[in-house]
Amino acid sequence: CMRESYVQETGHSVGVRPGLRVVVVGGGGRLGRRFVQAFRESGYEVAVLERGDWDRAAELVQGAGLVLVSVPIHDTAAVMAQLPPLPPGCLLADLTSVKAAPMQAMLAAHSGPVLGLHPMFGPDVLTFAKEVTVFCRGRGEPGEVDWLLEQLRLWGLRLHAAQPEEHDRHMGLIQAMRHATAYAYGLNLSRERPQLDELLALSSPIYRLELMMVGRLFAQDPELYYDIIQSQRQHLELIRDYHATLADVIGLLERDDRDAFTQRFCEVREFFGPLGEQFLNESRVMLAQSKDRAG
Ligand code: NAD
Repeated sequence: CMRESYVQETGHSVGVRPGLRVVVVGGGGRLGRRFVQAFRESGYEVAVLERGDWDRAAELVQGAGLVLVSVPIHDTAAVMAQLPPLPPGCLLADLTSVKAAPMQAMLAAHSGPVLGLHPMFGPDVLTFAKEVTVFCRGRGEPGEVDWLLEQLRLWGLRLHAAQPEEHDRHMGLIQAMRHATAYAYGLNLSRERPQLDELLALSSPIYRLELMMVGRLFAQDPELYYDIIQSQRQHLELIRDYHATLADVIGLLERDDRDAFTQRFCEVREFFGPLGEQFLNESRVMLAQSKDRAG
């Protein structure tokens, strides 16, 4: 039937609690919109609370079973504090890329169930299938909270539990560092002023892929990346460490110190252990596949 084929196309299946009222704060934004669409397609009654809607916030959250906050990182705490009282059993959740501060803000704003989420993907994914989403349990009985996790699973998301502080530490390395180094790499490349088409003509698939990972960053929103890099004070420490490592590498190259280069190389190889070999094989397969697709 039509409904089924539509569901298969979008990857969104029928809801765990169809008919439940869901309010998405910031639901007009890039990521929020995707979740608004997903909930609607799964039969939920969805309302959006945007910047101009605060005068009718109390009315909007009336009878809500879920309030999901998806506003910019630096607005999250203020928005949590501004929320009107929610129905007692209503689940308060968020999609913020950092977790410790928003979790505290949610627990302070609402005495009912609280769940923190961090979708590890952007609004540009074709479907939710196999994308990773981190969740942090805040408060609430499994019966009040787990339906949402089940709903996310039904949409194809892979869930991973984490503690907020540990999540934020790891995100420093996974996101802030990678974005900061890609930003610096892209900035440096643009200042070297190479002819991009010539660079690409010289690039075999692996180099094209590396260039792509940098270039795609600059096709997106500077605000989001600034916010992610600046979301925690510790990130600056990580980036300073990186700067010091880069200085160390420049030093050994200036000294023409092949032994020091090799010694550090072996240190890193040991750090990666068997994963190094595994990555070599996996990337070989991936590159072969991308060549097949390119024809
Ligand atoms: P966005 O700027 O596209 O959307 C944010 C929305 O919030 C906008 O529609 C804005 O009008 C609204 N908003 C701002 N202040 C508000 C207020 N006071 N009251 C009500 N609405 C308000 O941002 P986004 O990229 O969709 O990101 C939203 C959240 O999702 C952020 O916390 C971000 O960390 C998280 N996130 C984003 C991505 C991504 O790739 N975009 C990935 C994972 C997580």
